[in-house]
Amino acid sequence: MGNLRVPTYVGGRWAEADGGFVDVRSAVDGHVVAQVSSDGIDFAGALEYARKTGGPALRALTFHERADMVKRLALHLNECKERLYELSFDTGATRKDCFVDIDGGIMTLFSFASKARRELPDARVAIDGPLEPLSKGGTFVGRHVYTPLQGVAVHVNAYNFPCWGMLEKLAPAIIAGVPLITKPATPSAYVAFAVFEEIVRSGIFPPGSVQFIAGRLGDTLDHLTGQDLVSFTGSRATSEKLQATPAIGLNAVRFVAERDSLNAAILAPDALPQTPEFDLFVKEVLREITTKAGQRCTCIRRAVVPERLLDDVQRALVERLGKVVVGNPRSERVTMGALVSTGQRDDVRERVRELERDASIVYGDPSHVEVVGADDASGAFLSPIVLRCEKPLEVERVHSVEAFGPVTTLMPYRGVDEAIAIANRGEGSLVASVFGYDANAVDEIVCGIASFHGRVLVVDRDCAKEQTGHGSPLAPLVHGGPGRAGGGEELGGVRGVFHYMQRTAVQGSPRRVASVTGEWNPGAQENALERHPFELAFDELSVGDTFYTPSREVTLADVEHFAQFTGDGFYAHMDENAAKASPFFEGRVAHGYLVLAFAAGLFVKPELGPVLANYGLDDLRFLEPVYPGDTIRVRLTVKEKRPRKP
Ligand code: NAP
Repeated sequence: MGNLRVPTYVGGRWAEADGGFVDVRSAVDGHVVAQVSSDGIDFAGALEYARKTGGPALRALTFHERADMVKRLALHLNECKERLYELSFDTGATRKDCFVDIDGGIMTLFSFASKARRELPDARVAIDGPLEPLSKGGTFVGRHVYTPLQGVAVHVNAYNFPCWGMLEKLAPAIIAGVPLITKPATPSAYVAFAVFEEIVRSGIFPPGSVQFIAGRLGDTLDHLTGQDLVSFTGSRATSEKLQATPAIGLNAVRFVAERDSLNAAILAPDALPQTPEFDLFVKEVLREITTKAGQRCTCIRRAVVPERLLDDVQRALVERLGKVVVGNPRSERVTMGALVSTGQRDDVRERVRELERDASIVYGDPSHVEVVGADDASGAFLSPIVLRCEKPLEVERVHSVEAFGPVTTLMPYRGVDEAIAIANRGEGSLVASVFGYDANAVDEIVCGIASFHGRVLVVDRDCAKEQTGHGSPLAPLVHGGPGRAGGGEELGGVRGVFHYMQRTAVQGSPRRVASVTGEWNPGAQENALERHPFELAFDELSVGDTFYTPSREVTLADVEHFAQFTGDGFYAHMDENAAKASPFFEGRVAHGYLVLAFAAGLFVKPELGPVLANYGLDDLRFLEPVYPGDTIRVRLTVKEKRPRKP
């Protein structure tokens, strides 16, 4: 890429800092790949531009329109993947690692866009939960709605996934209707810049909706208000520092953090060598420490194993680690690349030294590694390292010191209770996995550790082929964890979108609540339809349009006929005395399904028309008995409209 100064994109244009550049070096050979700085950038101006220009433009669109933009971005980025791959090699990432970051990021956009179109209305307000009756007479009701915050989302990202990390936060913010300023971590800012450059080039998003600051955040956080939010990914120490910014506490700025996580993988007591679960466990530990050279937030840092199997696991793991080829990620022979920088490698070495106070190294040498296709002296290469801690419940560091590299610690447990206690000593993690097939042990472990984890993955022979692994945070599921991992924010799927919105209880008459939410509810305005709704096309119907059918009497002969015809001779329909003796009925009642079938006979218009098919019924209930001699009719009301494109 040459010697590039990574620019900043604020106020609708690219700008270069006026000094203070920091060199970013290749993780592979140490040459300067880029220079990064944000000196002289008008941070307060960027926030104002987002609030005044980006916010209103996004809020004028519906959820579906915003989701369409996210999908179009995914399609656009799909076209320029190769360039992103090429750049990423210098961060130390292999082609496989790039797949997680680049293709993973694009897939996340697709997933958010598709879920939003399925689960959110084509409207600007989202409804949450049912209508709540608040008065006896039904003239005063309430309902929760979500509307977008009218501020800015400031996204501070970690270095390990410059593409995925940016896109997984961008998608929910845009779909929610909130403009964002994204700040990549310096060591991989040039990859994030290449992605952002494509976002700008695509011209998909309205002016002010996305901005990019490479380098320091300056005084950005000092200008935040209660309508803004910060979404941080990185270390616990940085998170604490940023959260302590006075404006954040003072203005109750929403602050989500995804931070260090000492994730555990537990081998269940039944998973003996030769069982598929034993093998799957060893493979997963290996995959986790070598993918992205262990620089993953979900990496298995603690491999928790039954005491009597510890030597077997160690042997199997060491044997496989012997086949790992460390080196230049551009080489096809290489299976593990470099850490992002020599600084990061030195940091990991330091952390390993700390861990060695509680554990001993059983594989790898932190000061030396054989390197293929590069020079060990100028690149940020490190051997995979396995430590072994004999008494994990008696020490502290193995549960709190995160060596953010290819490092894991083996630890034994004696009973399921101990395995649970060890996993929970992480004080809150993103993910834990359990490998075993014995339902009793696995269930006990899952229930024992769930409240300390954002995600618990159970791997066994039944899901072995399709399971996506310890580190597969996908858009529909929770990504985030409690305690040390950040606080348990739920960022998966549509819940992630709601994070950028305010939930408000709207109270008023049924008519008013319906007009705010865009959904018809009992007591709201009804517009009498002159024509049968089956004659009308989708665009000719409006919410509240209502049609009443003629009525029909239900007779005893109908009930008898239905019972004979269908074989449903339940006593409440056929035996007067038994029906009377039941707590619900005064005598024989018509079948619920008979009433439903008669209803269809009343409302269906048989001629060819715009109605194509009956997709089924949601929330069907039989709340009132219909007795022979009663008369029924049907009311059809358009409750909501959900256009689907195409
Ligand atoms: P980091 O050093 O904490 O940096 C994270 C981000 O904060 C970077 O963008 C960094 O920018 C910025 N930053 C640092 N100091 C700042 C300050 N004083 N003011 C404003 N911004 C500041 O973390 P990292 O080294 O990039 O990432 C590794 C860590 O991230 C690991 O601990 C890992 O566990 C964690 N992580 C967690 C998750 C998760 O989902 N839980 C995911 C990925 C990574 P600069 O680079 O410009 O300093």
